[in-house]
Amino acid sequence: MAKVKGPTPQSEDFSQWYLDVIQMAELADYAPVRGTIVVRPYGYALWENVQRTLDGMFKATGHQNAYFPLFIPMSFLQKEAEHVEGFSPELAVVTHAGGEELEEPLAIRPTSETIIGYMWSKWIRSWRDLPQLLNQWNNVVRWEMRTRPFLRTSEFLWQEGHTAHATREEAEQETARMLGVYVDFAKNHAALPVIPGRKTEREKFAGAVYTTTMEAMMKDGRALQSATSHFLGQNFARAFEITFQDKDLKEKYVWTTSWGLSWRILGGIIMTHGDDRGLVLPPRIAPIQVVIVPIYRAESREAVLAAADRLARELAGLGLRVHTDDRDQYTPGFKFHDWELKGVPFRVELGPRDVEAGTAVLASRLGGKETLPLAGLAQALPERLDAFHDELLRRAERFQKERTRAVDDYRTFKEAVAEGFALAFHCGDPACEKAIQEETKATARVVPADAPAEEGVCVRCGRPAAYGRRVVFARAY
Ligand SMILES: [Zn+2]
Repeated sequence: MAKVKGPTPQSEDFSQWYLDVIQMAELADYAPVRGTIVVRPYGYALWENVQRTLDGMFKATGHQNAYFPLFIPMSFLQKEAEHVEGFSPELAVVTHAGGEELEEPLAIRPTSETIIGYMWSKWIRSWRDLPQLLNQWNNVVRWEMRTRPFLRTSEFLWQEGHTAHATREEAEQETARMLGVYVDFAKNHAALPVIPGRKTEREKFAGAVYTTTMEAMMKDGRALQSATSHFLGQNFARAFEITFQDKDLKEKYVWTTSWGLSWRILGGIIMTHGDDRGLVLPPRIAPIQVVIVPIYRAESREAVLAAADRLARELAGLGLRVHTDDRDQYTPGFKFHDWELKGVPFRVELGPRDVEAGTAVLASRLGGKETLPLAGLAQALPERLDAFHDELLRRAERFQKERTRAVDDYRTFKEAVAEGFALAFHCGDPACEKAIQEETKATARVVPADAPAEEGVCVRCGRPAAYGRRVVFARAY
């Protein structure tokens, strides 16, 4: 009988564990073009749940979905100086099409600020046309040298929100509101305890006035930027002449924002919650929340499957995502391992003696098994799924706390970033930040929004600290 071989243990090689789990749990596979991946049905179902949840949150905050083209004239990207400089090294450009060399090369969108800015310059005339609150779910291409499934791929799926406003204040509020939506999603749906705040000048988005971010800690202590929300000021408005006539009849530039979350978040979920047995998926976005494994011999097959079917219907009736694994060609033991590897929160084991006694065994992916009466089992699960979510979040919070240290000297700083997050004062000079990266591989991840106000001197150069608080430094994905 086929046996499920487990992934490489995390303690042995975390990076290999990550690649193993993605393959073994059938989330994704490598595609023929280097740096691209195929997302398999189980991985795509997980992405769809992320998408569905966030989409509802975007709509609840007044945004509408639209779709802009994949191809962008090169000249558009050149209009915003920092933007083109930031994205040029990663651009994929179409120079030939229809058997001819194109008059103007076309960039494959790395992001859509420019084409949306161009369209807004046509659509926006007066204050009555504002605000514009758009979102699109799409793919973008950024030619990456070092790739890793979900974390860094040449083509990836994401959503990009784009908004235009009449005032600076409104645009800044929008920037903060959308970061808030991401944080809400991370904590309450993905069970990720993220740290929200601002990026330093060196780490901000190319073309932004400032970038806000949320950073999560992976189980190897490294940081993952999980979503960003940018205040673009009037940079793109000036580049694309997006103006409007205000109530005072004066012609003004609009203020814009953009914000995005990609399938990187799946990498974050895998590396925050997974263990040596495989994935552990947060119940609110897990493709399967409860798997029923019927255990039978030929003579008990019918009765057991009938009981499994009744339970599955009950669970589905409560709105839960349930799957019955009735594959005859695998043993129950194989199935247990398989669903553990795939990170399904709860497993119900149902054998002939259980059916006779009116009971079932409920096993949690976080450990523990109990025998429960079949009657009322379905009704008990929503609450247990909530408790599962809470426990995942608590574990991740505890881990993050244990691996985060406030440090005031450079030697301790180096130790701290080797195993997790360092909270340190920094002078704010991009050259000093670059030196830190070269010397320790750590970068400034976020200036935490809710850190207490503190004064100090730069952990590396000793100059007075900027930001009025400690900055999170870490090695990052
Ligand atoms: Zn410094």
